[in-house]
Amino acid sequence: MQVSLINYTPNPELIIAVAARSSASSLSVEEVQHKLAQEQVTNLLKQLLSSGHLSPFEHVSFTFAIEGISRITSHQLVRHRLASYTQQSQRYVSVREHGYITPPTISARPEFLAKYQQAVRNAQELYNLMQEAGIPNEDARFVLPQAITTQLVMTMNARELLHTCSLRLCLRAQWEIVELFTRIKAEVEKVAPFLGAELKPKCYRLGYCDERESCGLFPKRKS
Ligand SMILES: Cc1cc2nc3c(=O)[nH]c(=O)nc-3n(C[C@H](O)[C@H](O)[C@H](O)COP(=O)(O)OP(=O)(O)OC[C@H]3O[C@@H](n4cnc5c(N)ncnc54)[C@H](O)[C@@H]3O)c2cc1C
Repeated sequence: MQVSLINYTPNPELIIAVAARSSASSLSVEEVQHKLAQEQVTNLLKQLLSSGHLSPFEHVSFTFAIEGISRITSHQLVRHRLASYTQQSQRYVSVREHGYITPPTISARPEFLAKYQQAVRNAQELYNLMQEAGIPNEDARFVLPQAITTQLVMTMNARELLHTCSLRLCLRAQWEIVELFTRIKAEVEKVAPFLGAELKPKCYRLGYCDERESCGLFPKRKS
């Protein structure tokens, strides 16, 4: 899996703070921007997060190139509606020789690994045969397993990143999407360290685990 940040709103943390501060300032937005020191920016962001005033986070967005994830994970990802996605088409692009994901639990079991690999190879061979016989990509792809890899471009604003990370960095989420959001967080941290550090599972903000079973990081809330 590869995740790279290919574009983002410049000075993201400053822009969030400027938007928030200008709502309660008689100064012009530009004056607010020039007066805000880094320490004030961080303090404002902390205040917004603790009070739940999250709309200023919508002013900055991040565009990621995401490659080498399974169709299982891309399907979970696109359930998040407040983002833009452009995914490689299986109609226009042939998936001959495409990679596929092997879950670690299968890799660790030699008695299943060989059969798993053979099943994927069989599906790919049938795909190739059907394609050569003139069956269009859009139909031949029906035989492909969900393990097949895909690539997409995703743009998400910082408010939705806070939300998606709160759900998908939770260790109760599926392992591949946890890995994906761990990489997304690392990319954001490179350009917006405070914001990146705030991308964390929901239990950190709640102070308890609200899942059916806790992973052990935080205890379940006592009812
Ligand atoms: C661990 C885990 C397991 C899951 N298992 C399943 C499963 O078994 N089956 C399944 O179908 N899905 C499953 N999902 C997907 C889940 O139900 C959501 O569809 C997905 O997480 C998208 O999140 P969301 O709806 O909070 O927000 P997003 O689409 O990311 O939207 C962000 C927020 O905007 C608001 N919002 C967005 N759209 C609307 C709207 N139309 N109306 C009102 N408010 C809106 C909501 O406040 C929402 O929380 C699972 C998700 C997780 C994290």
